Amino acid sequence: MTTIAFDNSYARDLPQHAVPWQPQPPRAPQLLHWNAALADELGLETADVAPQTLAAWFSGAELPAGAQPIAQAYAGHQFGGFSPSLGDGRALLLGEVIDRHGQRRDIAFKGSGRTPFSRRGDGRAAVGPMLRELIIGEALHALGIPSTRALAVVATGEEVFRETTLPGAVLTRVAASHIRVGTFQYFAARGELEQLQALADYTIARHYPQLAAAANPYLALVEAVCAAQAALIARWMHVGFIHGVMNTDNMALSGESIDFGPCAFMDAYDADTVFSSIDNQGRYAYGNQPWIAQWNLARLAETLLPLIAPDDPASAVPAATALVEGFAQQYLQQWRAQGYRKLALAPVEGPGLLEDWLALLEAQRADHTLAWRFLADAADGDDSRLAALFVEPQPLADWLAQWRLQLAASGTTPEQAAAALRAANPLYIPRNHLVEEALAAASERGDMAPTLQLLAVLAAPFTERAGLERYTQPAPEALAAGYRTFCGT
Ligand code: AMP
Ligand code: MG
Repeated sequence: MTTIAFDNSYARDLPQHAVPWQPQPPRAPQLLHWNAALADELGLETADVAPQTLAAWFSGAELPAGAQPIAQAYAGHQFGGFSPSLGDGRALLLGEVIDRHGQRRDIAFKGSGRTPFSRRGDGRAAVGPMLRELIIGEALHALGIPSTRALAVVATGEEVFRETTLPGAVLTRVAASHIRVGTFQYFAARGELEQLQALADYTIARHYPQLAAAANPYLALVEAVCAAQAALIARWMHVGFIHGVMNTDNMALSGESIDFGPCAFMDAYDADTVFSSIDNQGRYAYGNQPWIAQWNLARLAETLLPLIAPDDPASAVPAATALVEGFAQQYLQQWRAQGYRKLALAPVEGPGLLEDWLALLEAQRADHTLAWRFLADAADGDDSRLAALFVEPQPLADWLAQWRLQLAASGTTPEQAAAALRAANPLYIPRNHLVEEALAAASERGDMAPTLQLLAVLAAPFTERAGLERYTQPAPEALAAGYRTFCGT
């Protein structure tokens, strides 16, 4: 029996889009985390494989049979500036598997050594940032938000040199694919239209097969990716997620969250929230995310013009522009639908209770997650936990009165509303100070216990459990004020 039934379509179908390359074997690989549930979902036959073997396979010390590592080519706009050649500078696609649901999934390394795309980088990754990617990916997944996920994190036993010396690690990431807006930009910028078309056809076949029959499949691809991103970004916004580095190379055509390096969740509701240490203009602030997504989608649409209208690419501009502009409406519709679900109400057209609620949270700097969550208590008739989050009681009371009127008018019983609210509004998110605490324990003392405990809490974000109060609280004000996240390259 094959342990991992690789079927490597990217290497096979798009040989010009990547470079075959080997990981650099680490000195002393040790398994820090193995995601057995994800391995099972992928159909890997790894239940009887020894941890040392898993550590070797998922660090590049030894390759599992059938792996065919390649470094993928891509370009990207980073903070608005275009780099024509980025590519996998410290990552490798090991191969693909078909999971238990019949979906093709990439299995890829991050931190596995230098590649032809490394430029000045060392090709390495540190334990802390790789565990952050693990924790956030699992949290997003449990929140019902499409995300790449970590299958394994392996300590390399080697040091990486950043501002300080840090323990090294290799992350094994599972993704619907690693095709990015930047992948299209790479071939468009080089004027390699045949390769661009091969990539577009591959993307359609892999992610949007129904589009192959569309009148213009490439225009339809723009439309489908706009829709996927509208749904994704709306989900981020409703849980207070800040990606941190929404460069075009960090936006996946699949609609999964990917490459959320300096990401973090917002505590007090504030549209201007930025955590990333390198985002000093606030380009990727919480409230900008939908419009940055739209900007990135415009970059994708540009690359596809010569495929949409091969004889006269400029003639495709109006149709492509209309789709990208339509993203704003699509996003708003998604955001309203999801937002009203979080209020246990049917969506309405135009500004209403939802906007009023968020204006209230922003004015009072209430904790975003807890305010939404404690609406369920309020539906049950107990406003105490909710009211404690607000400085001034009256604006909250006024809003609650309106909300209760609408709930009553909708015919929903308080019990039904409370249950719906608890299913739509998580109690547990990865609080920044707890993430830092977990990363520090693992990085400084090799202690994985806080990470594992945090993962266990975040695996069931909608289910309140006794004894976990600590995991519901925002960071102490003093800590939150200066909180910064680092790209961790
Ligand atoms: P990221 O910020 O992780 O999205 O990466 C942006 C680009 O920088 C990609 O091309 C990466 O492969 C590359 N990169 C990031 N860190 C390193 C590193 N330590 N060594 C080599 N390349 C890197
Ligand atoms: Mg990236």
